[in-house]
Amino acid sequence: MSWFPIGPIMQFAAVVIYLILFFIVITRNPYGRSNRFAAALFFCFAAWDFCEMFLYNPSTPQYIAYFFDKFEVPAWTSFPVFIFWLMVSLTEKKDLFNSAVLKAVSFALPIFFIVLDWSGNLMHHPVLMGHYWHTDWIENSVFPYLFFIYYPACVIGGLVYYAISLKKGAQGFKKKQAIVLYISTAVTLAVGTFFEVIKPMMHLDIGIFDYFNNMYLMIWALGLFIIIFRYKFLALTPASAAESIINSMNEALILLDDEISISYVNQPALDMLGYRENELNGLPYHKLIHGPETANTFLKEVIRNYRVKSQEFILKKKDGSPLTCMFSASLIMELGEVRGIVCVATDITALLEAEGGMREERDRAKKYLEELKVSYDKLKELDVLKSNFTSMVSHELRTPITSIKGFISFLMSGVGGALNPQQKEYIGIIRNNSDRLLNLINDLLDTSKMESGSFSINKTDADIIPVIDASLNDVRSLSANKCISITKVFAVNSLVMPVDTYRFSQAMVNLINNAIKFSPRNSTITVTVDSPALAGPVPAGLKPGNYLRIRVNDNGDGITPDKITRIFEKYYQVEDINTRKAQGTGLGLYIVKNIIELHGGAVWAESEGTGLGTTFTIIIPLKGA
Ligand code: ADP
Repeated sequence: MSWFPIGPIMQFAAVVIYLILFFIVITRNPYGRSNRFAAALFFCFAAWDFCEMFLYNPSTPQYIAYFFDKFEVPAWTSFPVFIFWLMVSLTEKKDLFNSAVLKAVSFALPIFFIVLDWSGNLMHHPVLMGHYWHTDWIENSVFPYLFFIYYPACVIGGLVYYAISLKKGAQGFKKKQAIVLYISTAVTLAVGTFFEVIKPMMHLDIGIFDYFNNMYLMIWALGLFIIIFRYKFLALTPASAAESIINSMNEALILLDDEISISYVNQPALDMLGYRENELNGLPYHKLIHGPETANTFLKEVIRNYRVKSQEFILKKKDGSPLTCMFSASLIMELGEVRGIVCVATDITALLEAEGGMREERDRAKKYLEELKVSYDKLKELDVLKSNFTSMVSHELRTPITSIKGFISFLMSGVGGALNPQQKEYIGIIRNNSDRLLNLINDLLDTSKMESGSFSINKTDADIIPVIDASLNDVRSLSANKCISITKVFAVNSLVMPVDTYRFSQAMVNLINNAIKFSPRNSTITVTVDSPALAGPVPAGLKPGNYLRIRVNDNGDGITPDKITRIFEKYYQVEDINTRKAQGTGLGLYIVKNIIELHGGAVWAESEGTGLGTTFTIIIPLKGA
């Protein structure tokens, strides 16, 4: 068989294969960086083997052999660099591409080895050895060893970089791709080292296997061939993009052929149903569904009406367990004929569970609401009863108290006979207490009217200043008892405005009474009156305009911020009922608020805190404000 050109034929076959791979990767995605590196690599291999075709031919003249021996040098000196960059470009981390040093080294090293070889410092000239032109490494030189370091360093460096960036998150076909790439590269590296380094260095005679010299690159090519076709390596076509979208969706996608058998399923469908791909291909679709009749009727309707249809289905998993899905199907039409059906199934188990949970929550909330309503109605009923009772009791009490007060006046005036000083003192105490009782009854009556909505005021145009003065006079004796002085700071002497003088002075008296009640002896209360035009944001949501403003400031107990918002509530008292020193019912400020609001105004309190005094402010719009 010595006439048979095994060497050149094998090299030629390798050239063809590399060129095919070159075209595949470059046409798949001509702009992809990885594709370009892979293409460059295949081109190197092809060029190298092209030269080898002549070197494996013993009848090649010596000068041609010399020429091709040198001509192939750029190919085998640069392929390690291409392998390195291919690996790097396969990772998501592209930062190495920005390294100018690495780029420079990648250019410099192959050139360095080319120059070395062409200057006769790396390999000898080829010598005809039986069936091929053999080339030996230069002996007693460090340069070949540099090359033996250079090429594994590039290949292993690339692999390690690829491995590090793949470590996390590599799954599915990417992982398989990596495994094949690793195995083929490692084997190539090992076999290549044997052929290129060990064998020539140790002058081994390997007989027929010599024909396979540099065929080891085919192992690598085979690895790439597998991942290119099996795992869509370096593929970026609309079809591969669509496939990746289909596999990354959450829904299961099932394609049925015109015989209603499964022809394709995406990864989520396999995960959802627990099958492997080959177990589902060709399976009649109804086998996947609990209740095949419903499934068939559903599809018949889709086909008859030529439209997309959705329905809740219970799919059958491989282990037989049910899976509730929203299943929709639409027809794939070609030239007016049904070519297949595309079905999308969404697992709605979680949705149904959530819905069930929500329904339960809603029912529970509804129950609570009903219970609350019952309690509320009861409370309302009780409140009405209480109001009626308060109103009735107050009415009933007012008559005798008024009569008592009348008779007290008689007694005091001496109509019933002259009173000695002791009797006068006792009658005075009775009068004070009946006054307090009457005030309390009046407050209770006003409150029940306010609650029932029957409380009203009767505004007439009047000068407000004398009304304020009169209110201050009313409490004069109380302030005198505690040696409290009331300072008046009136910015206006007269101010005619629509006001219910009786109710307004009731509000004023309540405020000043409180100020006296909650102030220490010998302190001062300041009553300020002015009529500013309030612009910008007016308190309590009132409109900007001209207002009467009264401020009652004391240096008393003060109120903490958490309580101050509540003091206008009915029956609310800051102090505990059992420990409080001041008398009262907690109705005063509630009545003040109602009266002022019926005047179209607002009232609020400000205090720096306990012991720091309080300022109550009333504002009421002036006439035409
Ligand atoms: P009361 O009849 O208890 O005075 P009010 O409705 O008039 O009821 O007042 C409610 C509560 O607000 C009072 O119990 C008191 O705790 C607090 N309060 C009212 N005015 C003052 C004030 N000038 N200084 C400190 N606390 C006050």
